[in-house]
Amino acid sequence: MHEMAIAQGILEIALDTAASHGAGKITRVRVLAGELTGVVPEALDFGFNALAAGTIAAGACLAVQVIPLMGRCRDCGQLDNISKYRFICEQCGSSAIDIVSGRELTVESVEVE
Ligand SMILES: [Zn+2]
Repeated sequence: MHEMAIAQGILEIALDTAASHGAGKITRVRVLAGELTGVVPEALDFGFNALAAGTIAAGACLAVQVIPLMGRCRDCGQLDNISKYRFICEQCGSSAIDIVSGRELTVESVEVE
């Protein structure tokens, strides 16, 4: 399961962050997930909760914000949302599209007690 490996990575980052702050409990973890990563927030939340059991992150809230996939046309400069992975400029029909956002998968913040 794709999300399980990602959840494991998120948990490790959260635990490292908490340890470096001497925190005893993790209450909330904010994650930015680009549309292109294909992450399903519910599945990620489920995986995170399963892995966090028995750690100081047990019961923490995983807040996943999905970042839409955006592309900029290299020919006309049009910035648009890319739907259904169709990398074609709606303005001029060019297929020279640079991905601007939607590939990220980062832990934005870790809230601790
Ligand atoms: Zn264009």
